[in-house]
Amino acid sequence: MADPISTRNFQGDPISGLSRVQPRLAVYAVHDSQTKGRKYPEAPHPYRGPFQRDRDRIVHCAAFRRLQDKTQVFVGDLGDYHRTRLTHTLEVASIARTLGRALQLNEDLIEALALAHDLGHPPFGHAGEDTLNACLAGEGGFSHNQHALRIVELLEQRYQEFPGLNLSLEVLLSQESRIKSAPSKAGSLLEAQCVDAADSVAYNTHDADDALELGLLTLPDLLEIPLWQEAARRAKCLYASLSAAELRRAALHELIDWQVTDLLRTTLANLAERQVQTVEQVLAGPPLMHPGGDMSPQKNELEEFLHRRVYRHPQVITVRRNAQEMLGAMFQGYCQNPELLPESYRQRIPIHGTRRCVADYLAGMTDRFAQQEFQRLFQDK
Ligand code: MG
Repeated sequence: MADPISTRNFQGDPISGLSRVQPRLAVYAVHDSQTKGRKYPEAPHPYRGPFQRDRDRIVHCAAFRRLQDKTQVFVGDLGDYHRTRLTHTLEVASIARTLGRALQLNEDLIEALALAHDLGHPPFGHAGEDTLNACLAGEGGFSHNQHALRIVELLEQRYQEFPGLNLSLEVLLSQESRIKSAPSKAGSLLEAQCVDAADSVAYNTHDADDALELGLLTLPDLLEIPLWQEAARRAKCLYASLSAAELRRAALHELIDWQVTDLLRTTLANLAERQVQTVEQVLAGPPLMHPGGDMSPQKNELEEFLHRRVYRHPQVITVRRNAQEMLGAMFQGYCQNPELLPESYRQRIPIHGTRRCVADYLAGMTDRFAQQEFQRLFQDK
């Protein structure tokens, strides 16, 4: 078997004397030099790689900043402990980079994909998404994965030379592969698989943690689930006489570490078994990164438990219903009065239609701004 480590690890810059040092990557990683480029060609940067530039463009865009006041699962009114869409995104990036570094994948690409993966979420999480999807039922619907592409390809206006962020094709194609109804359901890069796996690890563990903090669940409730039982057993082996709060935190750390280790073990076994030597082989086959045979049913059981006990909790359902009524009323209100839209959104109406442009505007709002605008323009009018 060939050495899996590439020797292409350094590129000199003949102009300024600056150089771009690249880490050693596995043969199944996407190397910067292999990028398919951008829709609007750009000259290479002297000391930043293409995916590093993508990552930076995402961090500097307005949609990314607005993640700070967008609901992950629990709205802001419930307190200040729980995850927002931004902190969830950062946790996903952190876990995905851990996976990627252990497998010698392209961390810049992973980080760009992770930071972009939830850019398309409207205010109020999945409640907002379901409302916009219903509003656009006759016009292709609305999905956050599809909308993230619309943001980075069209809606962000930050550069003179092109619409959107002109991200590398690897980032766009990976985001497209997240769309359930995508016409070509081709395989995804291992870097993208890291982000999907990290997303699942992050929300499983952190939604449970947030629900505990908010009192929607108790630790004994969670300890009915085998995955949490085992994580708690591991935590107790490491630390004697933990208080309930300490046990909860230690079990949470164990749960993340255990799942990440399991993902790495499964992926390495799959890579060896299929003798994967190239990116093309990664793309041609089924996913290489997934929970192992023992972990998978336990993880499914935790997800089913969270759906039943947290996502459908009466408190969460009430907030969800209120948010849906508000966004639905705003959608109708803006459609009837498109002159209320900002100029940049109104300009696109002749091309994309009023309803899609209203959805674009609503999807870009933070939770707080949506509430403010609803009260200012539509409440009791
Ligand atoms: Mg996510």
